[in-house]
Amino acid sequence: MTVILDGKKVSAEILAEIKAEVEKLDKKPGLTVVIAGENPASMTYVASKEKRGKELGYNSDVIRLPEDISQSELEKTIDELNQNPDINGILVQMPLPKHLDSDAIIEKICPEKDVDGFHPVNVGKLVTKTNPYAVACTPKGVIELLKRYDIDFAGQNVVIVGRSNIVGKPLAQLFMNLDATVTVAHSKTKNLPEVTRRADILVSAAGREKMITADMVKDGAIVVDVGINRNKEGKLVGDVDYENVKSKTSFITPVPGGVGPMTIAMLMQNTLEMYKKFGC
Ligand code: NDP
Repeated sequence: MTVILDGKKVSAEILAEIKAEVEKLDKKPGLTVVIAGENPASMTYVASKEKRGKELGYNSDVIRLPEDISQSELEKTIDELNQNPDINGILVQMPLPKHLDSDAIIEKICPEKDVDGFHPVNVGKLVTKTNPYAVACTPKGVIELLKRYDIDFAGQNVVIVGRSNIVGKPLAQLFMNLDATVTVAHSKTKNLPEVTRRADILVSAAGREKMITADMVKDGAIVVDVGINRNKEGKLVGDVDYENVKSKTSFITPVPGGVGPMTIAMLMQNTLEMYKKFGC
């Protein structure tokens, strides 16, 4: 029988745990999201992060900047947030308008407030297993979701499809730190089905609808779908051909309702952790 990895339910539990903790605090954790321009998807993400923060009792706000903001003006905004003792977490919504240097902006965020875990200091600390101030929210959410279903990682063959800085690479590192044997596949990987069939735990983070078909999945595998795509009908779907793959798996995440809600819960958790370490 297949177990559905219910990210909606688990994230609600985590958010309730956070809320109970925040209610006991004298000072509220502060989370500021910075957005430049009006990319519709980004605006939706940002609004939901602000709303979720407010529901938890955070000082949660959004700084909305014009599309044509200069690099130096954006860096100045970040500097001010870095110096503001009421702000514990700073998140710059990606992608930034093309004329801006995203890497330089990420490096400008003080690592102790880098709630997305993208700063090279935090990435380095993840790689060297030396207590990063924050770990990227989506990979952290994948691990947390699996842990809450008592899934063990030691010695498991994990295959991750996708090697981005925000999902594939940090997730590979997390699994490695938890003693899994990790393979990272990407668009140049030869014979992908042969690689994915070796997976005890298969994670797809490619952003390609129905890319993971039933023949690519070993019987009894655990399948985690990070992908978010819009199909022809405009519906949100993942990378996995869910209807045909599901019956082969022992555990599988739905889309929506799997990894997505875990990502936002981890953002809230990272904010609280940074508040506790550096803020209060
Ligand atoms: P990127 O586009 O940065 O990376 C995609 C990765 O997938 C690349 O490494 C690429 O390979 C690989 N890839 C693409 N096509 C194929 C293919 N046909 N075969 C094998 N590998 C392939 O995407 P992100 O990492 O930012 O996001 C991945 C997906 O996850 C997207 O759908 C995104 O919307 C979703 N996402 C979901 C989140 C959530 O909260 N659920 C959060 C973040 C992202 P190469 O490196 O060779 O180009």
